[in-house]
Amino acid sequence: ATPTAVMVATGVGANHGVLVKGGDALERAQNVNYIIFDKTGTLTQGKATVTTTKVFSGMDVGDFLTLVASAEASSEHPLAKAILDYAFHFHFFGKLSSSKDDVKKRKEDAFSQWLLEVADFSALPGKGVQCLINGKMILVGNRALISENGVNIPEEAESFLVDMELSAKTGILVAYDGDFIGLMGVTDPLKREAAVVIQGLKKMGIYPVMVTGDNWRTALAVAKEIGIEDVRAEVMPAGKADVIRSFQKDGSVVAMVGEADYVLVRNNLEDVITAIDLSRKTFSRIR
Ligand code: ADP
Ligand code: MG
Repeated sequence: ATPTAVMVATGVGANHGVLVKGGDALERAQNVNYIIFDKTGTLTQGKATVTTTKVFSGMDVGDFLTLVASAEASSEHPLAKAILDYAFHFHFFGKLSSSKDDVKKRKEDAFSQWLLEVADFSALPGKGVQCLINGKMILVGNRALISENGVNIPEEAESFLVDMELSAKTGILVAYDGDFIGLMGVTDPLKREAAVVIQGLKKMGIYPVMVTGDNWRTALAVAKEIGIEDVRAEVMPAGKADVIRSFQKDGSVVAMVGEADYVLVRNNLEDVITAIDLSRKTFSRIR
């Protein structure tokens, strides 16, 4: 491929909302065999919402939410945002009756007031968060985080969790001072175009794969909805590169959408098809 042709194609791509990083990436796109999609924020909207709160300890729901939100307040994770938002509304929505501006102001004031003080915070990628509140350890995250810390998950909680996961929700478990105290269910809707894009890729002869740090049941439920048969779940953030490498082994060309050579400018999955189509057209014209 001539550098000019690649430059032109890259420009066309940008106009279509696809930014191709370097000519190499564009050239490789025509030969792509596999596309590996991140689940969260790529196939899904990355806008999680809490749908369920279940306290298993006899603790007041409001107190439970305050604890969990306080622990998550320093986390950047989309799940943390969902929890804080939910706890906020639980505490303040409905109790406020005045104008919109007043609600906003009072929410802002309240925000700093009701969160508890946190010490020794750490975010554990692919697992959750842990910190100290009132001198006691709180853990908020997935099963691995809870069980690695020697906390027993009651059978009733486990079966509740399984039901949520089978309906594509992510369960968030909470332990405080060595005891399991409750869980939350979070849903993250699919992008509207996800299913048709997957269908389109298959028609183009490209094999879609989904990779996620989320648990197997949730991952499989989401994948089924959009027509992806090949799923790699419970993959730690650092393990995603290994998944890519495993598909490259037989010389196949693999693209990753999530942390990829393609930056989806409009955050629309249709751009993936545009990129490959663009590459195929550009390089067939050049030859
Ligand atoms: P993904 O591949 O979906 O982006 P992550 O690697 O970010 O997943 O996280 C994997 C799992 O770890 C999540 O599904 C969740 O169960 C748990 N987790 C990660 N961060 C947090 C957090 N801040 N709060 C609660 N759970 C978390
Ligand atoms: Mg993530």
